[in-house]
Amino acid sequence: MDLGIRGKRALVCASSKGLGLGCAEALAEAGVDLVMNARGVDALEAEAARLRSTYGVDVQAVACDVTTSDGQAKVIEAARGVDILVNNAGGPPPGMWSDWDRDDFIKALDANMLTPIAFMKALLPAMMDKGWGRVVNITSQSVRAPIAVLGLSNAARTGLTGYVAGTARQVAPHGVNINNLLPGIHATDRADALDSGVATQQSISIDEARAARAATIPARRYGTRAEFGATCAFLCSQQAGFIVGQNILLDGGATNLTM
Ligand code: NAP
Repeated sequence: MDLGIRGKRALVCASSKGLGLGCAEALAEAGVDLVMNARGVDALEAEAARLRSTYGVDVQAVACDVTTSDGQAKVIEAARGVDILVNNAGGPPPGMWSDWDRDDFIKALDANMLTPIAFMKALLPAMMDKGWGRVVNITSQSVRAPIAVLGLSNAARTGLTGYVAGTARQVAPHGVNINNLLPGIHATDRADALDSGVATQQSISIDEARAARAATIPARRYGTRAEFGATCAFLCSQQAGFIVGQNILLDGGATNLTM
């Protein structure tokens, strides 16, 4: 399907690996020029070069931590005037409700709520002026149903979801659509880190931890970054112009909900 966005320009935060990379690649395949970002320069430059040569799009790589104000300023400078914004950052560590203090919450809120809000605040006005824009925030299935060991994620991402619910309706009259994509478990480094924690805790191998988790998912497998990216690119397409303020679960049926 032609997504109708060839020649547009996107910022994809935290995109040298995993779900962010899946989004960057699907947008590149649709002919979108990119600003990619991650902290580690090697993987970022390598993936930027691969997308440039595979899809013939322009790719600028900005290596920095998006959760810091310096990093945000650097990325915003490079991304000024983008048509598409994909917000993403690393997820907070697991733990128990009694483990976290104020500083842990501030860190999680910075990464998974205040950073995407800062990018929207900086980049939405130009989209509204042009009368066209798309924002996709990568959040988590934990917004629909809490994951007990990810209390920091449950809290920060639900805060972002509340902000988006109101903001999406304020910018929609200007042709700008904001939606959230809620990943369930996908085969990425983040999933490996969570599975190795379970493996250590239960004295089992990481393969056993993975198989046990996959068995709880109706699709009986983890999602892929390509599937996730394709959904993101569709939300950024011309065809998705009537989708506003939605929270779309990509979880293989794992969250047991009627709606
Ligand atoms: P991942 O495989 O670990 O990849 C994370 C990417 O983000 C890497 O490119 C990493 O590169 C970059 N990154 C991390 N922190 C950053 C920062 N502060 N500034 C700039 N770049 C940063 O993670 P993922 O699985 O794709 O997950 C992406 C998001 O989705 C996370 O918030 C995660 O919690 C959430 N999520 C994932 C799953 C899943 O199953 N995978 C499920 C639910 C929610 P550098 O390390 O070089 O910076």
